[in-house]
Amino acid sequence: MTGMPSTLPHVRHLACVVCGAHHAPDAVDYVCPDHGDDGILDVVYDHERLARRLSPATLAEDRDPSMWRYRALLPIAADAATPPLRVGGTPLYATPRLAREAGVRDLWVKDEGVQPTGSLKDRASALAVVKAAERGAQVVTTASTGNAAAALAGVAASVGQPTVIFVPATAPQAKVAQLLAYGATVLLVDGTYDQAFELSTRVAEREGWYVRNTGFNPYMSEGKKTVAYEVAEQLGWRAPDVVVVPVGDGCIIGGVHKGFRDLVALGWLDRVPRLLGIQAAGSDYLAQAWERGEDVRSKPPIVVSTVADSIAAGLPRDRVKAMRAVRETGGAFVRVDDDAILAAIPALARGCGVFAEPAAAAAYAGLRAAVAADLVAPDERVVVLSTGTGLKDVPSAMRAVADAGSHPHHLPSDLGGASAALEALGLVRP
Ligand SMILES: *Cc1c(COP(=O)(O)O)cnc(C)c1O
Ligand SMILES: [Zn+2]
Repeated sequence: MTGMPSTLPHVRHLACVVCGAHHAPDAVDYVCPDHGDDGILDVVYDHERLARRLSPATLAEDRDPSMWRYRALLPIAADAATPPLRVGGTPLYATPRLAREAGVRDLWVKDEGVQPTGSLKDRASALAVVKAAERGAQVVTTASTGNAAAALAGVAASVGQPTVIFVPATAPQAKVAQLLAYGATVLLVDGTYDQAFELSTRVAEREGWYVRNTGFNPYMSEGKKTVAYEVAEQLGWRAPDVVVVPVGDGCIIGGVHKGFRDLVALGWLDRVPRLLGIQAAGSDYLAQAWERGEDVRSKPPIVVSTVADSIAAGLPRDRVKAMRAVRETGGAFVRVDDDAILAAIPALARGCGVFAEPAAAAAYAGLRAAVAADLVAPDERVVVLSTGTGLKDVPSAMRAVADAGSHPHHLPSDLGGASAALEALGLVRP
């Protein structure tokens, strides 16, 4: 304990996930000083104090649909200005047809593709922008496979905050287009995400920029936990049995775990659902560690390759929280190959109208694999997180529909020729 007074009366301390040491929020910006990049911090709240001031009933009266309806449960001052973009408040769709297809009793799809920049990352980036303002930062920076960067650039643009973004040169076009449109300074790194991450952290340290990096900045899983709050509230404060989360760095699954744990600590939910972490077969660091019982603090990085760029991470930055999320909830890590991921894009889109990018569709592919492996029972209630929109990666979507045998039909522009073509397709009678 540093003994410094906190300006956040509802935050008890930040706890290192490695050594458990407590730090005052004012004393540390990112990681535990004793454990470097591994010493990711957990934000620990005074739940008794919170439960006295807040309840499901007070929330029911709050008309704000955005993530800031939960601001009392976030590590920001009560009067902190929040960015104007509407982050959060995404729909949770009941999907009976997909439930039948997947072989579970109830299935809901949480569509994070409708966030302002098109992915769940907006939740974390919105909080990063508030924390950067609190610190008086001139520049905010991040390394990202694309979505975290787009989210940061977009939310920062809404408040006129300059950003510098490090992305691998291989990032999908749509994500780079978003960055440039939002006015970010974009640095295309000739290397992997992991290398971009190292670079950004070191440069930021030198320049005093505020760092949004996943699994380094302790507040990113705090922003992401609001998706769990929403799911719980949308289900009437009844926990689902299973939540299926696509996993790259592990920050989302760690945040989902944190969100449900908060709700149980507040007495608003009776239990934490089992968390299934879905990894691409070509980026399966955590699935390997899970199966082999490896210690993720000593397991070296792996070489990765997958169509699901948003979950490609050779050294998942939030691996300690991710492993804990799965272990403590009785969940599992499940891997799915690129063919299954691509097949899940049209399956989700046709089954419930949600168009997902490969990493997001991986969650549904993972559910199918988990049911086949008896990790999910037929009578269970399941939530799938669809973490990003399909418009993020159109070439992969085109590949997915072609693999599914779907292609457009060419039509002559004159009525006679068009009618003949429509007849040939069996769409109209001769
Ligand atoms: C970032 C991302 C993920 C994975 O989140 P992690 O915190 O890296 O595990 C999954 N899907 C999409 C669309 C993402 O952008
Ligand atoms: Zn530590």
